Amino acid sequence: MSETTFEPVPAVEPDEPPAAAGTLVMKFGGTSVADPEKIRRVASRLVEAKRAGSRVVAVVSAMGQHTDELVSLAHEVSPQPKPREMDMLISVGERISCALVAMAIADLGLDAISLTGSQAGIVTDTVHGKAKIVEVRAHRIHEALDSDRIVLVAGFQGVSTDFDITTLGRGGSDTTAVALAAALGADYCEIYTDVPGIFSADPRLVPGAQKLDEVTFEEMLEMASSGARVLATRSIEVARSHNVRLHVRSTFEEGEGTWIREEDETMLEKALISGVVHQREETVYRVDGARPAQLFGALANASVNVDTIVQTNAEIVFSAPVEDKPDAERTLEGLGVSWTCRDDLGKVSLVGAGMKSHPGVAAKTFATLESAGIEAAIVSTSPIKIACHVPSSDVDRAVQALHEAFELA
Ligand code: ASP
Ligand code: MG
Repeated sequence: MSETTFEPVPAVEPDEPPAAAGTLVMKFGGTSVADPEKIRRVASRLVEAKRAGSRVVAVVSAMGQHTDELVSLAHEVSPQPKPREMDMLISVGERISCALVAMAIADLGLDAISLTGSQAGIVTDTVHGKAKIVEVRAHRIHEALDSDRIVLVAGFQGVSTDFDITTLGRGGSDTTAVALAAALGADYCEIYTDVPGIFSADPRLVPGAQKLDEVTFEEMLEMASSGARVLATRSIEVARSHNVRLHVRSTFEEGEGTWIREEDETMLEKALISGVVHQREETVYRVDGARPAQLFGALANASVNVDTIVQTNAEIVFSAPVEDKPDAERTLEGLGVSWTCRDDLGKVSLVGAGMKSHPGVAAKTFATLESAGIEAAIVSTSPIKIACHVPSSDVDRAVQALHEAFELA
């Protein structure tokens, strides 16, 4: 297995001619292509964009829950499928949807071509299941665009430097879209989804949650890594590195969504807090007597996405996504350290670029939680985030109380 610590920026082939103006990259999530009728609707959207004069590249996710179904199928066959075979299997979902969209476009009288990640020139490292894009070799896409076709690219996958099919981690079609937008020199990347944009909190939990007009790359990164599910974290890293603006909007409604872009003064003058994000579960580990460098080195090699870290004397506490638990456990066992973990905590995070220059956010957060009778087990901060690990059963109430206290409705 090769290094996972590549530059966060996939290289764009240097000798590639600059893309003609007006290249539009549009990404459609699984709910947007969930059935034949929706596939035809996506096809007409793409045809409309093409007829309006853009060079159109579309990235699609697997239909509905197809990826989950493929993952379950694998586990019905085998208790521990090999990661390479897993990638061969789950990359199929995106191939199906992009071929179907291409067929529907042909029925509307335009020429389209579907490409796998590999055919589209998406080259990754060799970490199956969590591969990182290291290069985009876009000739084939350019050729197809030059011959007036709409190009459909299967999201979430690429080909490794060892010539194996890889996948980019759950939600990875977003990353495919942003990397292509960067490589093709598109002005921005449109992310079509089943919600109208990014909200100040999950509207299912907080009915008064507001759609945000714009958020900074940094805010979106914090939100995504704190539980907002609209965009894959990695895709925002790539967008920030290449300064690709993102427009998150609804497939099913017209109208502006949320723009994600570089921070400027006008954005800082707005609200102190942009949103409250949550995660109902996050595993919290407590490790005794490990050297931090060795511990976190081993976790990184196992591609465990460590979030909060608190070290006091010989004790190290850290959190990581529930999906990473098997890898984390194997790593801790391998190191032979003594450890325990808790599965009863979730995380509530307040995110806002305006926080940088305003004291008192922490004080208000603690006061709000205290008066709601909620005890935080761990609190961690960044310049634009305060994250509180609270019991999973208190997560919903904490989100509601903080959304109200900071007047985000
Ligand atoms: N189909 C993949 C998933 O469910 C990738 C994606 O939707 O972006 O994670
Ligand atoms: Mg997604």
